[in-house]
Amino acid sequence: MSSKKGKVQCIDDEILEKLSLKTRNKFLNYNLMSFLDSKYLIFLKQAQKFFENFEKTYKITHNEDFYEWTPEIGKNGYISRLHKFEDIGLNYEPYGMTAEFMRIFAIDFFDPQLAMATGATAITVNPILLHNEGVDIRLRAVKELITGQKIGCICITEPERGSDAVHMQTTCEEQEDGSFLVNGEKIFQTNGSKADWGVVYAVTEKNNGNTMAQFLVDTSWDGWTAERVNIPWTPRMHVSKETFKNLKVPLDCVLGKPGDGRSHLFEGLNLERLTIVCLNTAQAWNALTHAVIYANMRKQFNMEILKYQGVGFPLADLWAQTMNMTLSTLNVCQMIDEKMKKFGTLPKDFNLTLGTTASQLKYLSAKLCERVVYESANLMGGAGVCDNTLMHDLLGITRLQEIGGGTRQVQSHIMTTALKQLFKLL
Ligand SMILES: Cc1cc2nc3c(=O)[nH]c(=O)nc-3n(C[C@H](O)[C@H](O)[C@H](O)COP(=O)(O)OP(=O)(O)OC[C@H]3O[C@@H](n4cnc5c(N)ncnc54)[C@H](O)[C@@H]3O)c2cc1C
Repeated sequence: MSSKKGKVQCIDDEILEKLSLKTRNKFLNYNLMSFLDSKYLIFLKQAQKFFENFEKTYKITHNEDFYEWTPEIGKNGYISRLHKFEDIGLNYEPYGMTAEFMRIFAIDFFDPQLAMATGATAITVNPILLHNEGVDIRLRAVKELITGQKIGCICITEPERGSDAVHMQTTCEEQEDGSFLVNGEKIFQTNGSKADWGVVYAVTEKNNGNTMAQFLVDTSWDGWTAERVNIPWTPRMHVSKETFKNLKVPLDCVLGKPGDGRSHLFEGLNLERLTIVCLNTAQAWNALTHAVIYANMRKQFNMEILKYQGVGFPLADLWAQTMNMTLSTLNVCQMIDEKMKKFGTLPKDFNLTLGTTASQLKYLSAKLCERVVYESANLMGGAGVCDNTLMHDLLGITRLQEIGGGTRQVQSHIMTTALKQLFKLL
């Protein structure tokens, strides 16, 4: 049966059966198998199998509170594949950007809103792992997040400072014992009201990004409150507003002292943006797969609708664009993996260029997935907009992608600045 069934069935039994997670995964794999390195294809299939079994075992309808699934997903190693996680006693294989792309494909085809929420936990892990310095509480946070025992959120955006994130209003004040008191408000944090661990940015002087610090916060501490913000397009994902009132952060949880926060914020941004690109690409494939299967089976005027040029040609166009985005994303993922393997870190020059590349891909993939999903739904007629499949989730979620992780206009701004800098080299 299909992965999602609404109260009233609108799609024929046979088509609904073909829209199953298993068949959709199969379609994706046929598209990727000829150019994907076998170790990644094997990992992709392994991850897909896990989610297919999970869906079957628990009779998932995709109306559930997916946060409850986190422990089992974590136990099986599907929260993040960006690192090997040796620091916490794990030894993930394969790991890196390409492996993360595959993980995202598998989890997104299963449940797009879950994929996005899990992505926020994965992004929370990166700075804690990078700045763990062997401190117990930091390693414990990484372990609990990666193994799915706990949920994470990253707190940058504020009610008065969105795109202009560097000029923060949330303050931190150092105490005699080296701890900090944090005061202020954040907004639009993915997972916020569900999170157990947060990474919080604050400044010692309002509006001065050079005084920014970075903290690890246990959300059960006094002084942390989170209220859920209603984002109707993603009804199962928690996005929240947090208030910090004399939130005391002990010295062990200071990941970056005042002055280091800003560079800590930017150091992970490229890979974070590229994970969003992977999510966007997976969402486009997910919708396209639904539409291809549907158009091959649905008959009108006695013929499969795919055979009408009005359906088949635009579908082929969406397919070509999605494949292009996939190939360029894969190429960047592979370049990153090669550099990491060779140097253990990303060389400075490469990382600088990667900033523009990440913006270009984020800009294009966000626009593309919104269009691909909308057009795929449109080509499916009523079946594309009812709640019998994941198309409805995809329609909602892809409308957010141009905003989170830096808006479309901010990406344009980054690219324009790069064009100016390039011109200076001429
Ligand atoms: C679903 C979702 C999840 C999110 N998750 C997180 C999270 O986990 N953690 C977190 O910290 N934040 C998160 N965010 C916040 C997100 O990063 C911000 O919404 C985003 O950066 C934009 O900030 P803003 O909403 O305040 O809009 P504003 O910055 O107020 O922008 C409003 C409009 O003005 C435009 N604009 C602003 N400045 C410029 C400029 N210089 N040039 C041209 N146009 C400009 C913007 O592009 C936009 O169109 C999330 C947001 C959403 C919607």
